[in-house]
Amino acid sequence: MNTHVTSDFRPDAVVIGGGIAGLQSALDLADQDLQVLLVERQSSIGGHMISLSKVYPTLDCASCITTPKMSAAAHHPNITILTNTEVEGVDTCDEKHSVRLLQKPTYVNFDKCIGCRLCEYACDTEVPDPFEEGLGAVRAIAVPFTNAIPQKAVLNAEACGTCGTCARVCPTGAIEYDQQPRRLTIRTDAIIVASGFNLNSLNIKPQYNAQHSSNIISPLTLERLLAPHGPYGRVLRPSDGKIPGSIAFVQCAGSRDESIGVSYCSRVCCMYAIKQSMLLSGALPLADITIYYMDIRAFGKGYEQFFQNAKAMGINFVRGKVARIDPITDGDLSLHVETTEDADNPLQERRHDLVVLAQGMIPGWQPSTITQVASASDGFVATPMLTAPTATTVPGIFVAGTAAGPKDIVDTIAEAGAAAMQASQYLHQKRAEVLVA
Ligand SMILES: Cc1cc2nc3c(=O)[nH]c(=O)nc-3n(C[C@H](O)[C@H](O)[C@H](O)COP(=O)(O)OP(=O)(O)OC[C@H]3O[C@@H](n4cnc5c(N)ncnc54)[C@H](O)[C@@H]3O)c2cc1C
Repeated sequence: MNTHVTSDFRPDAVVIGGGIAGLQSALDLADQDLQVLLVERQSSIGGHMISLSKVYPTLDCASCITTPKMSAAAHHPNITILTNTEVEGVDTCDEKHSVRLLQKPTYVNFDKCIGCRLCEYACDTEVPDPFEEGLGAVRAIAVPFTNAIPQKAVLNAEACGTCGTCARVCPTGAIEYDQQPRRLTIRTDAIIVASGFNLNSLNIKPQYNAQHSSNIISPLTLERLLAPHGPYGRVLRPSDGKIPGSIAFVQCAGSRDESIGVSYCSRVCCMYAIKQSMLLSGALPLADITIYYMDIRAFGKGYEQFFQNAKAMGINFVRGKVARIDPITDGDLSLHVETTEDADNPLQERRHDLVVLAQGMIPGWQPSTITQVASASDGFVATPMLTAPTATTVPGIFVAGTAAGPKDIVDTIAEAGAAAMQASQYLHQKRAEVLVA
């Protein structure tokens, strides 16, 4: 736990969320000589992007882009980072903001931990690895993942049997079993909400039976299976470790459906499914890969060409809606599809051995429940001004990235830069007013 930050610290801006949006905003503000506090509730900064395999449309390695930004933020003299810290709320009065933080105990003193991992190697309690979407195992005390920042061990209190082994092997005496949660309030003039997204439940549509088969997976799980240092080092299906020979992508499985309360398009699913299908065909050249879709939304620069490339590579695109998925023998799955492509035979049953559901993007945090910031009807932060798309309903509070709605990395980074610029302008204007008065 980092205990250096106290309520006396008064940064120019607080950035909520250490994903790619928060990192970019923090760096842009800090480069203008503004003091930034970056708050992240997970044990490492990096957000969703650090766990992706490669990114469309360039197929660059995701962590090769994210890690330098994480490192730049960690080393920037104007940025202070608090991980394992949740923003619980923001109180605003006369354009001054008080950010309420909850620092969760890590049971490791971050000043003393040198990231040597001796505690991790000595611990013999294993838990499912959250970074690998639960597929691999990790010790009860561990550095969260190889390129995590900070490189500090964190102890999982629920799994730990307090056997004392980690404390015995730690060369710097960093283990503190008696750490307690710590609450503090930070006052600031500007805030950037970059709290990102979550995916809705894999079980949101009971007719897809995800709760009855471990071979119906989330696209984030497939990202880890495709990652060079993923849980198995290659793509294997979860139920039995078999190399999948026939993989299906079911699009709009958690979006564009009033009945599940997500009527909007999640905007990134078509493109990441195309990306994942291309990566799969490279990893499993003999596999048969099918994308079931309603329509393909390839709206960005170079995206249509990316789609055409996937078709040319032999990925099957089937226009239609998957009505039901039934687990059958040997872990395989039967998909009941209504397609518009075969007028004589619109209702088809197709068999696959691994299915990826395109879950919908939903807000990662709802500031409107604990701050004065309003939400739009889709639950994401409202941005009422067309001419200032990163301004919220509260002066001095700005929003960036998927906290404002589904979007991909290119748009997230552009928006994060814009939010930093607006926040900086706001701060300079406020200071000029004080000087004049
Ligand atoms: C399967 C999949 C594949 C994708 N592939 C691509 C791709 O190839 N190319 C592409 O352009 N886009 C892709 N995307 C989209 C991309 O992941 C997002 O555009 C990007 O990660 C959004 O970044 P963000 O910073 O807005 O959100 P996030 O990455 O969600 O970061 C938000 C951070 O805020 C933290 N946070 C939230 N609430 C709080 C709080 N109260 N206190 C403290 N911290 C908080 C969270 O822990 C998180 O770390 C993909 C998405 C998915 C689901």
